[in-house]
Amino acid sequence: MIQKWLVLGGTKEARQFIQHWRGDKRVQMLASIAGVTTQAPPLGVETRVGGFSYIQDDGVVCPGDKAIAAFIREQGFHKIIDITHPFAAQISANARQASTMAEIDYVQFLRAPWRPLSGDYWHYHEDWQALFETVKTRHLFVAGGQEALSALPQDYRTKVTARMMEPPQMALSDLPDSLDIILGKPGASSTEEEGLFRKYKITAIAAKMSGGKASAAKLAAARALGLDVHLVNRPSYPEGWFDDMRKIHRYLSIGLSKTS
Ligand code: NAP
Repeated sequence: MIQKWLVLGGTKEARQFIQHWRGDKRVQMLASIAGVTTQAPPLGVETRVGGFSYIQDDGVVCPGDKAIAAFIREQGFHKIIDITHPFAAQISANARQASTMAEIDYVQFLRAPWRPLSGDYWHYHEDWQALFETVKTRHLFVAGGQEALSALPQDYRTKVTARMMEPPQMALSDLPDSLDIILGKPGASSTEEEGLFRKYKITAIAAKMSGGKASAAKLAAARALGLDVHLVNRPSYPEGWFDDMRKIHRYLSIGLSKTS
């Protein structure tokens, strides 16, 4: 029997997961992405784009969890594989709830958080609001996307340079005058990030505790320059996730060998 998996993505790891299982004839995957990023290359499997919630004929919103559960039943999925970003807490909560409603397996991958090394000056904050309330420095580099900008008080005195993958969604007039925006991806190497921090005379950096390699170069650069690093803590999740992709593959392989 072919197993149908709904793979929730939007991360590099989801792309790697799909790549790993794509040729396996025992599996049929449908990828689901929010469609926030405009630059993502195709995943190589059938892909649906956008949230699941929708307005019903009676004008009432069908929320994401119920909509996913209905979608699973209609399409006959056997598993939800959630490989969304650790800060994408809403979709993960909805998917977990939907899997309970539809009585199918929910498998979650969360990349491991970063750990400080000697020479690191790391400070932790509950959310972006708390971070901006606390942090006072000469020039703060912010890598936190739209969420960070939304939390930036208009009267924030500290000079901020924010790096964004996509242009801000809010009106520029709602943002403080002390803010400059650089559009671009995280630097590929710590040398590249160091060059950027030196160029702008950055005195501290702020980011989410995302984990993973793709955006870790800025931490190494901050270490090399002795900069303070302010990190927003992750949302918490119920126990039971995988933080090692090989273990997910093993778990799924065992499941497949039982059903074949
Ligand atoms: P979120 O707050 O958890 O989700 C907001 C809403 O977006 C969800 O309720 C859902 O809408 C829709 N959505 C999110 N991920 C989806 C998916 N994979 N497929 C279909 N709908 C999805 O998520 P977010 O923080 O906005 O992140 C959106 C996407 O970007 C995620 O897929 C995540 O993996 C990726 N991403 C996020 C971050 C980050 O820092 N948050 C960083 C890198 C990548 P409905 O309720 O209508 O279903």
